[in-house]
Amino acid sequence: MNIILLGPPGSGKGTQAMRLVGEFDMTQLSTGDMLRSARKSTTGVGQRVAAVMDRGDLVTDEIVISLIEERLSDDLKGGAIFDGFPRTLAQADALGALLDRMGQRLDRVIEIKVDDEALVRRVTGRFTCAQCGEVYHDETRKPVVAGVCDVCGGSDFSRRADDNEVSFRTRLLAYYRDTAPLIGYYHAHRKLVPVDGLAPIGEIQEEIASILRRS
Ligand code: AMP
Repeated sequence: MNIILLGPPGSGKGTQAMRLVGEFDMTQLSTGDMLRSARKSTTGVGQRVAAVMDRGDLVTDEIVISLIEERLSDDLKGGAIFDGFPRTLAQADALGALLDRMGQRLDRVIEIKVDDEALVRRVTGRFTCAQCGEVYHDETRKPVVAGVCDVCGGSDFSRRADDNEVSFRTRLLAYYRDTAPLIGYYHAHRKLVPVDGLAPIGEIQEEIASILRRS
């Protein structure tokens, strides 16, 4: 099974993808994570990608499509959860062509619906465990013991450079300009299923899981 998690920045795509991987034995393909690892390289491309991401703009279709193409050539048993990809109509077309070529199909596109101001609050307080990737929040989800990850016991936490209000508003604009048209696109392809992204995390997970079990 191959699915896309579609939603604005901070809507919980990454959190849900991580949880679904555990339950459905699928592989999470996050272009944001791939790009964060690519930007660490000191090459020209790495530096350019870093500048674009920090501003909150979209990296070129060519770069992200080639990252996805590379990962899809591995044997992804159980299928893929696309997290943060596609983000433009050109990326959606490229994904369709790649899956066709592999004799696979896209099963569902889960649209995680949330309101913008809730997103600003959510994203600007966000931090993650550097060891296991568990996501926390300054106000709504602090570790039980301050400074210690609830899941793995790690004590090293990080904040994304683009999780500040200025970059976030740019990312939101990019979402409405370039990515929101995909809602109509996948609706027309009869793939789209909306879920309420403001519900508690566990409830959203259960709703998506039940959609996938029925697919
Ligand atoms: P994310 O972790 O999905 O929020 O992505 C972080 C940043 O990486 C975005 O703000 C973009 O700059 C870049 N990015 C991630 N995925 C894509 C994509 N599919 N197309 C273009 N840029 C992307």
